[in-house]
Amino acid sequence: MNEHQHEHRIINPATEEVIATVPAATPQDVDAAVKRAADAQRSWAALAPGDRARHLRRFADAVDAHLEELAQLEVREAGHPIGNARWEAGNARDLLEYAAGGAERLNGAQIPVAGGLNVTFHEPLGVVAVIAPWNFPMPIAAWGLAPALAAGNAVLLKPAETTPLTALRLAALALEAGLPEGLFQVLPGAGPVAGNALVEHPGVAKVVFTGSTAVGKQIMAKCAAGVKRVTLELGGKSPNIVFADADVERAAAAAPGSFLDNTGQDCCARSRILVQRSVYDRFMELLEPAVKSFTVGDPADPATQMGPLISAAQRERVRSYVPESAPAAVRGEAPSGKGFWYPATVLEGRPQDRTAVEEIFGPVAVVIPFEDEAEAVRIANATDYGLSGSIWTRDVSRAVRVSRAVAAGNLSVNSHSSVRYWTPFGGFGQSGLGRELGPEALAAFTETKNVFISTEE
Ligand code: NAD
Repeated sequence: MNEHQHEHRIINPATEEVIATVPAATPQDVDAAVKRAADAQRSWAALAPGDRARHLRRFADAVDAHLEELAQLEVREAGHPIGNARWEAGNARDLLEYAAGGAERLNGAQIPVAGGLNVTFHEPLGVVAVIAPWNFPMPIAAWGLAPALAAGNAVLLKPAETTPLTALRLAALALEAGLPEGLFQVLPGAGPVAGNALVEHPGVAKVVFTGSTAVGKQIMAKCAAGVKRVTLELGGKSPNIVFADADVERAAAAAPGSFLDNTGQDCCARSRILVQRSVYDRFMELLEPAVKSFTVGDPADPATQMGPLISAAQRERVRSYVPESAPAAVRGEAPSGKGFWYPATVLEGRPQDRTAVEEIFGPVAVVIPFEDEAEAVRIANATDYGLSGSIWTRDVSRAVRVSRAVAAGNLSVNSHSSVRYWTPFGGFGQSGLGRELGPEALAAFTETKNVFISTEE
């Protein structure tokens, strides 16, 4: 094993300073962690649901008491603007609270049968691995962690190489809050080493993966060997469809946030803006000042709306699609000097362009004109992805028709919101498999068991 696999240097993406060094887990570490987790899980599952819920509420309280510290850590390790980072830490707290209630409501069914009583139980799976990406380290960790624990499982969290610090802090807070030792462990490390060891480990019952479609496919194939359960949250190339009958001013004012938030490193980013031709020029006229006024700079400043990209490698990836010198319809400002900065960029394009088809994961959107509703739906669906999308129209019937016609898991009308912890989230097609969040979140971490009890004498 070479030097860089032993530890990872964590770099502040806004300054390029090394802020921490974190040891990388080996396959042996993973094996030992799985054994500890399996032991802890047995007693955890045997607790009364109300006691599990109380533990999770105390964990949520500990996160709440350290919200600012967690948010500041996210500013430093991920370059997220402080306002966003506070929301992210709050989202982790909310997930724990919401899932705690789920532990008390993990109801089975009583199904009428002749000659006895038929009931169902939702049994925990055992040890669950959550492999998280760097774009929303805390929320995405919590989306897996909270419902998995609530349903009676143990959790091993493998954060992304670049962003392990908030995950490690969450694990320490869990212990301080009284969660049993071994029940929730964080294993920082390289994807192909620690991540892969979790995927291949026979003691891991389920893998919850969020990240690139390419790695998601590999993980799904590996899970097949042991018929291991898997949830995948993968990429997206989501459309923002603006019809001529929409409030075009509002649609243009809202568009920048939909692809610049988190510097475009968002699987739900509305990176394809489809605009009906009759209002195209007007929309572009309004979009330019809206993009240019999106505040870019020091993530620690509460006025900042957009920070840097996560890493030099990610900036190279974005540049490989759109060099900063490429012609653009709109280009914003970005700080020069240290930091992985990249300016907000709007391109005008065609549906088949590489920039309109592939996930760039940077602050780049492509605007494409369309003639009518049928063409808008055709372009929106001309992708292997199907995660999110927005529809701007004042016509209620059209809003419903287009919402039903667009093949994506999370749509919003006259809004760009798509993630609430109490509503389901997930993708169609190659954007993923399974759903997270919402009222059914715990079900994904259980097996349904059917039991028939004879009442014959
Ligand atoms: P990635 O898929 O390589 O990494 C995501 C997580 O998987 C990380 O924790 C990583 O360590 C782990 N991983 C990597 N290889 C693994 C393997 N063989 N076995 C098990 N775990 C493994 O993503 P990335 O390289 O960080 O980003 C690349 C691109 O992926 C981005 O540019 C973006 O397009 C996409 N992405 C999407 C999301 C999303 O939310 N859908 C999140 C992050 C990245």
